[in-house]
Amino acid sequence: MECQLDANKARCPCSYEPCSRKGKCCDCIAYHLKHDELPACVFSPEVEKTYDRSFARFVQLYTSQKS
Ligand code: SF4
Repeated sequence: MECQLDANKARCPCSYEPCSRKGKCCDCIAYHLKHDELPACVFSPEVEKTYDRSFARFVQLYTSQKS
């Protein structure tokens, strides 16, 4: 399977523009998991802009939405 780089870039919600991993989802996920983080696409736009990509922020975001 070929990488869908252009399609991935087109739908990537990450606001960190200089990132060389943009559209390379496998590299993006590997990078963030290595740092105990998640990629931008799992966060709401407001949280994504803070660049806090921690697991703790992810859990906080989704548990607060359910209550
Ligand atoms: S989520 Fe992280 S690795 Fe992925 S494009 Fe954004 S800054 Fe780069």
